[in-house]
This record gives sequence, structure tokens and C-alpha cells, in this order.
Amino acid sequence: MPQSFTTKNTVIRKIDIMTKADHTKVFAEAPAKEPDRQMYFIEKSRDLLAETEKKAGRKITYDVVTFGCQMNARDSEKLAGILDKMGFEQTDSEDADYVIYNTCTVRENANNKVYGRLGGLGNAKKKNPFKRIALCGCMMQEEHVVQKLRESYRFVDLVFGTHNIFKFAELTYRILAGEEDMIIDIWESTDTIVEELPINRKFAFKSGVNIMFGCDNFCTYCIVPYVRGRERSRKPEDILHEIEVMAKDGVKEVMLLGQNVNSYGKGLEEKISFAGLLREVEKIDGIERIRFMTSHPKDLSDELIDVMASSEKICRHMHLPLQSGSDEILKRMNRHYDKARYLELVAKLREKMPDIAITTDIIVGFPGETEEDFAETVDVVEKARFDSAFTFIYSKRTGTPAAKMDPGADEATVKKRFDKLLKVVQRIAAEQAATHTGETVSVLAEQRNEQDESLITGRMSNNSTVHFKGDVSAIGSIVNVHLDECKGFYYYGTQV
Ligand code: SAM
Ligand code: SF4
Repeated sequence: MPQSFTTKNTVIRKIDIMTKADHTKVFAEAPAKEPDRQMYFIEKSRDLLAETEKKAGRKITYDVVTFGCQMNARDSEKLAGILDKMGFEQTDSEDADYVIYNTCTVRENANNKVYGRLGGLGNAKKKNPFKRIALCGCMMQEEHVVQKLRESYRFVDLVFGTHNIFKFAELTYRILAGEEDMIIDIWESTDTIVEELPINRKFAFKSGVNIMFGCDNFCTYCIVPYVRGRERSRKPEDILHEIEVMAKDGVKEVMLLGQNVNSYGKGLEEKISFAGLLREVEKIDGIERIRFMTSHPKDLSDELIDVMASSEKICRHMHLPLQSGSDEILKRMNRHYDKARYLELVAKLREKMPDIAITTDIIVGFPGETEEDFAETVDVVEKARFDSAFTFIYSKRTGTPAAKMDPGADEATVKKRFDKLLKVVQRIAAEQAATHTGETVSVLAEQRNEQDESLITGRMSNNSTVHFKGDVSAIGSIVNVHLDECKGFYYYGTQV
């Protein structure tokens, strides 16, 4: 069973809606098995929420605010699904009664952002007696964060982590029942994967699908394995069932999510590779596009490249984080590939799929990075010709091996390198994009353009954005668009 380093006993000091006896009875009667237990607390919460709404004389609203990556975005959809079932009304404003911050901690500034915004929520709580605040996600798995919240942010109602997100219904129930103490429930690890909880998808026609959780790679700069735990793959039948249900519900595009999808299947009874899983997803009627994220170069197999190349549905996009072009830095990052191997993979991908877009992540200023190391990174960018790249300045994360390494270059030098890299990345990305001008491509129409209502914004198979004149009725379908003009990172087009 999971260990808990901060969970305290449930001491109910005051229940303003229920009696203590009723509250205890609800817990005594709760099923032990998941997801039945959470479904039970959803039902119980519905009654409590109705009481609260009677008191307030209005609907009680919620807002789930997502920081960080696609995994967090998917988790937020799970939180929203539970709150919808309880009867809360969704808003996209932090004026909502129940605000949930789903946090990220990959870089230090992600933590600072959360602390910065929390103060505002605390003030708002003083003015709204129904306001409740919950914090979850990767940042909550850090003990010093929880300590700081306990000491300086007493107004927070609920803190939970990445391993027990499935317990959100039960924890929210405790808030609705009127528990006054800050509820803190953090698990150090888990091997539990709870299936079949409600989900509120942001888009009707596309969705993320978790295929695995956690990470075993321990890149020396990265905090993810410490806050998301060991790698666990979902069973293929559960993944395929979820996608089949989505397809029946109108989903056309799925994005398979994992920290390193290329190692999918490890530890499962059934022997299956990621390429094998893709072949099965491809067979599902109604699914027209398949994406995935993220691929670790060390595990990118020829089998996967072949499956992609022969597929009608797998999108022509590979996100393949480079991190650094220097063999020495890659070794110290514990990445298990070198510059030559990386470039070999890029060449293979482009040879088998000339229309593929390759995107990447790059860290500048890793401890000990020299001018020569940095020049190697720029050289890979020039040679690989990335269609786009996320560039990051190295951020020291306490507890990771890199945090103990000699820092190397000073801040100003690292910033100079970063700016130089960004310029190269942007120039090449614009050149790459321009090569498609004049083509007619298939585009998934996703939403009305926020700046110009006469335009629809959609995505090409290679993940590029296109704005085109069109009717909102196109949203959710795949249409053909002529790419009239390239604007560097996006296109203007005409539906044909
Ligand atoms: N699992 C994915 C992978 O291996 O590429 C990505 C996970 S991480 C959330 C996304 C990106 O954040 C990484 O690819 C890396 O470039 C960046 N990152 C992670 N830790 C970092 C750190 N300490 N400082 C700066 N960037 C970091
Ligand atoms: Fe972090 Fe490396 Fe795992 Fe990606 S593969 S999540 S960068 S440890």
C-alpha cells in the first residue's frame, strides 16, 4: 500500500452541513473497491452540493487551472469530469467558488508562478464564503512545498498529489461536508491505476489518452520520476476500450500520452510494444488521426518508424527531445544516445516519411556546458532542421543528480546562448514551414479564431496551425485547405 508522509488523521472539528455522526456513517458505508468508492462519493457530494446551493441561492461554480504539460491537461479533464457529475457548474474564471490548481514543477519558475497566484485566491476567499481552494499535481509531491503551504497558505482547503488523483471525489466530498482543517493527502507512490472514472473532455472531437504513467529514465536534470513515480503501462485492452468509447462519442483524433511512449508495455503480462499498440489503435473505426507524445530517442525503434510510415492514420509528426547536441553533456544528462545516433534517427524518419515534421526540446546551460558543447547543440539544430523546438534554460531541481553538479557558465552567458539558439531555431522553423506553401493539405478544424471570428483555426497532420475562412459547422471535421501564405509559425489558407 502507498505510504503517506503528510496524511493526517481526519479530525473533523466542525461540520456545518452534516452532523459528525452522519459524516462518520457515510465513510463507514463507503465501498472499499475503486472506482465504486469514488462513484459513491460523487453521489453523496451531489446531495451536499444541493444543500450548499440552497444556502447560496445560486449555482456553485468551479475552475480547474492547468499548469504544465499535456499529462496535466488530461488530468484536469478527469477532475472536471468528477465535478460535473457532482453538479458543479464549470467556468473559466478564478472567481469560481471552487478553484483547483493542477500544478507543474518541471522548472523552478513553474512553482513561483503558483505561489504568486495563490495570494490572489486567498484574498478572494475572504470575500466569498463559498470559496474553496484545492492544489494538486507534480508540485504537491515535493515535501518542502507542502510544508510551505501548511505554514504560509493556511487558507488552502485541499492538497493532494499525482498518485491519488483518482480520490478527488472523496476529498472534495470532505470539503463539501464542511471539514475545516486543511486536508492534505499525498502518497509517495502507487501501483494502482483506477479506470472508468468520469471525464469532461475539452474538445468533443479530439482527446488525450494516457497509455502509461510515471517515468523510469532518470535524466539527471529532471524531477518527473520523483514526482510521478515509476513507469506503469495501462493494459492494452483498457486503452483500446477507452478509445473505442471515444470514437463512438465522436472523437476523431487521439493523442497517446506517456513520458516515454517508446517503452510502452514494460511490466505488462501481455507482450506488446508501442508499435504493436499503435497497430491496434489504427483498427478502431471512427478514429481518423493518431498522435503520440513523448518519444525518447534511446527507445525509438525501426518497428515504430515502419508502422508510422505505412499508416493512414498516424500523424506526420514526431516530437523527439534532443536536450543537448554534445555527447559529453548527453552522457551527464543520462540520456543514453549521442549526437550521431540522434542525427541517424532524424535521417531515418525523413527518409521514410519526407513530409514528417520533427520537433524537439532543448535545454541550454546544463551544469558544465561549455561554448563547444553549446556549438554542438546549434550544429544538431542546423542539421536536423527542426520544424519547431521548445527551448529551456536549465533549472536546478533539488533532489536531482544535476543539482549537485558544478554549475559552470554564469547566468548572462547562458542567456546569450539561449537567445542565439532561439534565433537559429526560429529561422529554421520558418524555412521549414515555408516549403509547404501552395500545397493542399488535410486539416482538423478545431475552433473559431480568437482574434478574427471569420476564421477557423485547425491543425495539419504535421501539427502546424492553419487559419482559414470557413463556417463554424466545419469544427470537428477534417477538411482540405490550400495553404496560401506562411507566416513563419502558421499559415493562412482557403478551404477547398
Ligand atoms: N518525458 C519527456 C522527455 O523525455 O522528453 C518530457 C518531459 S519534461 C516535462 C519536458 C521538457 O522539460 C524536457 O524535455 C526538458 O527539455 C525540459 N526539462 C525537464 N527538466 C528540466 C530542467 N530541470 N530544466 C530545464 N528544462 C527541463
Ligand atoms: Fe524527465 Fe527524462 Fe523521464 Fe522525460 S524521460 S520525464 S526528461 S526523466
